[in-house]
Amino acid sequence: MASGIRLSKLRKTFGSTEVIKGVDLTIEPGEFVVLVGPSGCGKSTLLNLIAGLETVTSGEVRIGEALVNDTPPRDRDIAMVFQSYALYPTKTVHENITFGMQTRRIPHEAQQAALKEFSKLLQIDHLLARKPGQLSGGQRQRVAMGRALVRKPEVFLFDEPLSNLDAKLRISMRTEIKKLHQRLGKTVVYVTHDQIEAMTLASRIAVMDNGHIRQFGPPGEIYEHPVDLFVAGFMGSPP
Ligand code: ADP
Ligand code: MG
Repeated sequence: MASGIRLSKLRKTFGSTEVIKGVDLTIEPGEFVVLVGPSGCGKSTLLNLIAGLETVTSGEVRIGEALVNDTPPRDRDIAMVFQSYALYPTKTVHENITFGMQTRRIPHEAQQAALKEFSKLLQIDHLLARKPGQLSGGQRQRVAMGRALVRKPEVFLFDEPLSNLDAKLRISMRTEIKKLHQRLGKTVVYVTHDQIEAMTLASRIAVMDNGHIRQFGPPGEIYEHPVDLFVAGFMGSPP
């Protein structure tokens, strides 16, 4: 069973600058929510608040039933995949994938089983002995996804995971992420710049601007019935 996410009156201030300005957002278990919005509007900060990588200034973050405002990232049952996948350069693919499980003290047999399952699923099972420097960008991104998947979290957060890849690879990875979601049924929050990526992946799209969620709804609704000119302009809707 996947966990939903509920943000209530969420605010985040850096120094005297308010970056998240009272966000209310309820994400159902198993949903694929895509967060879009201009650069600097607060998308990464919002993900970091959900992940626990930033502290909440005020308001609530709930994952499942639990209030997690003060829960450290490793206890949140969440995995995050970034644009810069930050693999350990001196470790093999195998070690990169299992490292997170070791620090969480997952038993050895369970680690090996998860490694086998997900490296096969991501088609990197023939690359386990290589180091990141011996992989293509797409392969590195798969390793980063493998590292997130083996922890079997209830929630996945993706921060522009495909933006460093070329167009062709981006399209094939997009299809694979969609298949993975259909197969695993976990809750996903996915940040992207790419409107087509948003339209094809999302169960609902959240359009963000300047620390606020301007509209939250299914792709068709956002596209056909934008609530204002900002959303219409951003999603490229017809006038
Ligand atoms: P996005 O991901 O939508 O591009 P961010 O969430 O990264 O936006 O940033 C939102 C705003 O918060 C930006 O103005 C950014 O400069 C500011 N910001 C982000 N992180 C910090 C930080 N650690 N300290 C100060 N300001 C920050
Ligand atoms: Mg960002």
